[in-house]
Amino acid sequence: MKTFYYSTLVFLILVYLFTYSSKTLSQSSDLEGDNKELIINDNSIKIGTKQTIALVIEGGYTVERIEIPVSIIRGTQKGSIVCMTGGIHGDELNGIEIVRRILNQFDPEEVNGTLIGIPIVNIPGFKRGERYLPDRRDLNRYFPGNPTGSIASRIAYQIFNEVIKKCDYLVDFHTASFHRSNLPQIRADLQKPQIKNMAIHFGAPIVIHKPGAKGTLRTSASDVNIPAIIFEAGQPLRLQMSNITKGVKGMNALLAHLKVIKIEITSSKTTNAIYLSTKWSRANSGGMIFPKIKSGSLVNKNDLLAEIIDPISNKKSFVYADSDGMVIGMALSQIVLPGYAVFHIGLKSSSKTQESDEQFIENDPIKKEERVD
Ligand SMILES: [Zn+2]
Repeated sequence: MKTFYYSTLVFLILVYLFTYSSKTLSQSSDLEGDNKELIINDNSIKIGTKQTIALVIEGGYTVERIEIPVSIIRGTQKGSIVCMTGGIHGDELNGIEIVRRILNQFDPEEVNGTLIGIPIVNIPGFKRGERYLPDRRDLNRYFPGNPTGSIASRIAYQIFNEVIKKCDYLVDFHTASFHRSNLPQIRADLQKPQIKNMAIHFGAPIVIHKPGAKGTLRTSASDVNIPAIIFEAGQPLRLQMSNITKGVKGMNALLAHLKVIKIEITSSKTTNAIYLSTKWSRANSGGMIFPKIKSGSLVNKNDLLAEIIDPISNKKSFVYADSDGMVIGMALSQIVLPGYAVFHIGLKSSSKTQESDEQFIENDPIKKEERVD
């Protein structure tokens, strides 16, 4: 009888504790709503603070300790968590500067929600002035990462789990790679409505529909339902003010649209071309390349794009446009090898297989006459 009494008492106490703790938890989440606890790398990020913390990746004795600065502006008002990343490729300086400038613009009192920026994700590459990590791996192929893999996998894992998974939206900033330059452009999977909405409201002159490659930060974020877009502008190893200014303007427009900041965006949307596919025109022989058109040119099939001169044989060859469209990226003057990707063309939707894509454009919120293609 005594045993039964004690068992019942213990049971009742357990029931009470369980009920009470559940109630407390649900109450606290109701009260805090969007402003629930935000912890990054064991740092509790308090409401109304602006700070930079170091995300640490230990590589063992073979690799120096890697510290990646993460800046957080936690607003005083509720709102979304918007994240920005730059420098996943360590030589892409325009994006690093765009993220830095955006972070310097705001104090917590001006932010609804949270703004998180990692200006230089690939710190080891950046310190060496290189696109890749010191082991030649492309960090942007290793997301969402692995805590016990290569240094690329470990950096990707820490960034993804400590920061990216906590974001509601992500914008990743890039430039063209190796001796090429891109027109300012958004790359996004336009088949996903939330992502398309971000792409349009950034207001870049060009939006390109491009589902991301496996292992990229953008695709990995999207895979866990975090809408993500890329802003590409300019060339690596340069700080190009017109590209930086466009990136800052676009990010501000997006932040205002997401109601994270309260600034007035005076200009209307500036996106004037959406391309649903792209194609590279390649060099058919090696030599010195002399482009005959500029980035942003509208070209027709068979238009002359460049001359290539072999300085040893003094022979000349030509690169022609494979299709109608706009030059959205191109190689700088240099020596090229046969097969080198020279001109990146945003394609007009003209073939029969692209009729459904045309329909997709027709339904777009941007008016047709605003497009140049
Ligand atoms: Zn890049």
